[in-house]
Amino acid sequence: MKNFTYQNPTKLIFGEDQLSALPEELEDYGKNVLLVYGGGSIKKSGLYNRVLDMLDEAGAKVSELAGVEPNPRLTTVKKGIEICRNDGIEFLLAVGGGSVIDCTKAIAAGAEYAGDVWDIISKKVTATEALPFGTVLTLAATGSEMNPDSVITNWETNEKYVWGSTVTHPKFSILDPINTFSVPRDQTVYGMVDMMSHVFEQYFHNVKNTKLQDRMCYSVLQTVIETAPKLLENLESYEYRETILYSGTMALNGTLQMGYFGDWASHTIEHAVSAVYDIPHAGGLAILFPNWMRHTADQDIERMKRLMTSMFKISTEGKSDKEIVFEGIDMLSAFWSSLGAPSRLADYNIGSDRLEEIAEIAVREMQYGGFGNYKKLTKEDVLSILQASL
Ligand code: NAP
Ligand code: FE
Repeated sequence: MKNFTYQNPTKLIFGEDQLSALPEELEDYGKNVLLVYGGGSIKKSGLYNRVLDMLDEAGAKVSELAGVEPNPRLTTVKKGIEICRNDGIEFLLAVGGGSVIDCTKAIAAGAEYAGDVWDIISKKVTATEALPFGTVLTLAATGSEMNPDSVITNWETNEKYVWGSTVTHPKFSILDPINTFSVPRDQTVYGMVDMMSHVFEQYFHNVKNTKLQDRMCYSVLQTVIETAPKLLENLESYEYRETILYSGTMALNGTLQMGYFGDWASHTIEHAVSAVYDIPHAGGLAILFPNWMRHTADQDIERMKRLMTSMFKISTEGKSDKEIVFEGIDMLSAFWSSLGAPSRLADYNIGSDRLEEIAEIAVREMQYGGFGNYKKLTKEDVLSILQASL
């Protein structure tokens, strides 16, 4: 392992009816609260009214930013910063999925920064201050509820960056599995693909002696693989929603990644694809990740074999490591397809015309963000992964 320091200040409040903890959690902060949410799912589910009741009980004066889009946009972040300044906002509450939380992080940091918030998102400047914020999570996927990261898109320049800082951990996150009952089937699938992809990204590194971390990775993956089909049979099962909700948080709250930093090339390529075509993050990952695995299989075939055989029952007799690995990758692809995830860029009507542009964005971000740590990728590598994904 490499030397590391781990500190995760987010208070995780997990389970049925935990929303009732909200007024007490807000006691430490000012009363001017900005409620941030998405396109209306929380109004449909009734969560919006329940949150407003709790904010009322806490004596909060509430401003609202509604309409945060999936793949949140810089323009919306700027709108939120303006509200913070005009209304003297002291605390932000994100109620929604990863997009709402990521947008809230950017608003929180941007409101405390005198310059253009894009400086922070594009990593020219590291945020050193942010307004405090909490979250009420409604979708199991990103881990954003317990990590400092945020992904924001600038549609004017087709740039989508992941950024984060020590000041952008949520103060608390409230996770009630019941708040995820209404997540539609397709988003439920995307969420599970995303959390599995987060584990893969972290598993692929070249640092020695990470036995426990490796096994923790296998454990999260096995749990999601076992639970996913059962949950899709019964979207309102508390037990399965609870398992998946907790898996999503554990997949990307830093616990798996102590003592090393993962690869993150597939996420970087996906971000480049969705900076050009507005597709769901995990839909892109389901298409790209198996092709990244095929492309990099020779980097550490033993390590990849251990991963594949930990996830799937593969008979290994008489087969080379490479045959086992490729069979495993096919099984992963087939598993995601069986859940209903896309498997080709063509599923989103994406052809070959803008692949060059996407590869350029991805390679730039990889150099800039320190990604591709397991296997450095050139533009030709990225193009070849994208072409295999068509
Ligand atoms: P999302 O974009 O937050 O939400 C996707 C859709 O699900 C939205 O239309 C949303 O509707 C709906 N939804 C959410 N909760 C619902 C519920 N309980 N019932 C019904 N519908 C619900 O999805 P996400 O996968 O959580 O976030 C994706 C974003 O996170 C991407 O931009 C991705 O790049 C980023 N990401 C961040 C991290 C990180 O560490 N920060 C990691 C990976 C990915 P409403 O808008 O109406 O609520
Ligand atoms: Fe992700």
